[in-house]
Amino acid sequence: MRIIITGTPGVGKTTLGKALAEKMKHLYINEREFATEKGIGKWDSEENELVVPLEELKQELSLVLGREKDVVLEGHMLCEIGLKVDVVLLVRLHPELLEERLEAKGWAEVKVQDNVFCEGIDYCKKQLLKNYEGIKIIEVSSAGNKEATLEAALNALGGLK
Ligand code: ADP
Repeated sequence: MRIIITGTPGVGKTTLGKALAEKMKHLYINEREFATEKGIGKWDSEENELVVPLEELKQELSLVLGREKDVVLEGHMLCEIGLKVDVVLLVRLHPELLEERLEAKGWAEVKVQDNVFCEGIDYCKKQLLKNYEGIKIIEVSSAGNKEATLEAALNALGGLK
């Protein structure tokens, strides 16, 4: 299955993506690592983040999707680009829980508040509805622990068969 995992930074995409790919014996690709390997990102030291040209990322990822049929692609930028996949998993976490979790992990306050805001306004969901028309979008809550989140994702995917 070609699966995208996306959502606000900090909600638990990477954690779920790795576990899901391992469980399903799928190839796992993190968008940021992929962009870095392909040399299509540029580090913005002021913002302290990788700035990636989305059209280039889309082209490179489309090549991978053309040759791999069992793959988990994971990252927050994926909601911004339409890709040909079987399903999208949107990881969700209530903004207050997201704030608590990220503060406890020692994330910088500015990043925490940016992410809380994005989650609160359904930013990724709105982008997905625009960019992934006709593709099944499933919301998976990460409010439980990591195991519960994986189980919820597996159950949701099982229901597609
Ligand atoms: P993202 O990839 O969305 O930025 P991560 O997977 O890196 O998020 O998770 C952010 C932080 O939250 C990490 O410290 C991770 O260990 C923790 N985390 C992720 N999923 C869960 C979960 N279901 N329950 C509790 N903590 C989680």
